[in-house]
Amino acid sequence: MLLFTPGPTPVPESVRLAMATPTLHHRTPEFEEIFKETREELFKLFHTDEVIMLASSGTGAMEAAVTNLCHDTLLSVNAGKFGERFGKIAVATGLQNVEIKHEWNRPATVEEVVAAIKANPSVDAVAIQISESAGGLRHPVEEIAAAVKAINPSIMIIADGITAVGVEPIDVTNIDCLIAGSQKALMLPPGLAILGLSNAAIEKTGEGKGYYLNLASEIKKQKQNTTAYTAATTLIIGLRAVLQEIESQGGIDKLYVDTALRAEATGKALQSLGLHIYPASPAPSMITIDDENAKEIRDLLKTEFSVNVAGGQDHLKGKIFRINQMGLIAPYEMVAAVNAVELALAKLGRRAFDGTASRVFNETYFKSILGTN
Ligand SMILES: *Cc1c(COP(=O)(O)O)cnc(C)c1O
Repeated sequence: MLLFTPGPTPVPESVRLAMATPTLHHRTPEFEEIFKETREELFKLFHTDEVIMLASSGTGAMEAAVTNLCHDTLLSVNAGKFGERFGKIAVATGLQNVEIKHEWNRPATVEEVVAAIKANPSVDAVAIQISESAGGLRHPVEEIAAAVKAINPSIMIIADGITAVGVEPIDVTNIDCLIAGSQKALMLPPGLAILGLSNAAIEKTGEGKGYYLNLASEIKKQKQNTTAYTAATTLIIGLRAVLQEIESQGGIDKLYVDTALRAEATGKALQSLGLHIYPASPAPSMITIDDENAKEIRDLLKTEFSVNVAGGQDHLKGKIFRINQMGLIAPYEMVAAVNAVELALAKLGRRAFDGTASRVFNETYFKSILGTN
């Protein structure tokens, strides 16, 4: 079975083997050395002033960011389940929340965020997804962050990059907190979250808020290559192996280029079958198709062609399917996936099978690699 869900993503063999080594105690020089090396590699991935690893799923990092960096009113962009979650976290932790709400295929605009900031002077942090995984949408986060900082540089910009860090280059110039999670682009099992922080964010954190998710106490410890509470040792060993694996396969910049190209080729292949890409501004992390037969296509992919793709949630349940592009994915696996979609459409009587999808994928992907188009 090919796993093509946009999280969890397949864990490379070298990483699984690294995580099969005997358990280490976290308060030892051996583990601190691994922690230090992992931290150094993370700085190269995040390009932020500080990085913090938390033993939690991605949502724990979202909560840590909101509670430590917002002291009054959060402006959250809700164009999907994960954007909605930022607002729910604010409300659950006693903060005010101002929400910009969109259908799940429509990105936020700079103008509406600027207008909301001007209309709500108590906003002291903005929270937004870089890639909103609910509908495969890319928000123009860098542009929004620059515009907000131009109005008021003390407003914190919290960017959820759980399906963006390790997928595409992100300009962190105006971002105060960049969040990643282990089971999406970082190709690990669930349970580790990472926050990249700006110096301004560290300053605003001050003494920190909360107990387990107190960023000030973590920053203090992690600068010394240890953690405030028991570290997720096995996952951190796995993370170090992931970053080494990316390096051994040509480095992170190559991964960004390959991912963008594979996502483009997948999108074109599916469109050549008459399928429709759901978001107005697709993120490279996944290709999302909206279709009246989305459920049937997804079921056939799994039962007949051993390709596991994700569906939709809430009002998009049964209406979309999402094909992951995150991680180190061999292009021939994606050829198999788009071919399976074409086969499923043939089974549904929608279209005669003639190999169009794999041909379009191959032309887009491999011609570009050869430099012939
Ligand atoms: C998966 C995901 C989350 C939530 O992470 P969990 O690890 O499930 O808590 C948050 N934001 C985005 C964009 C995601 O894709």
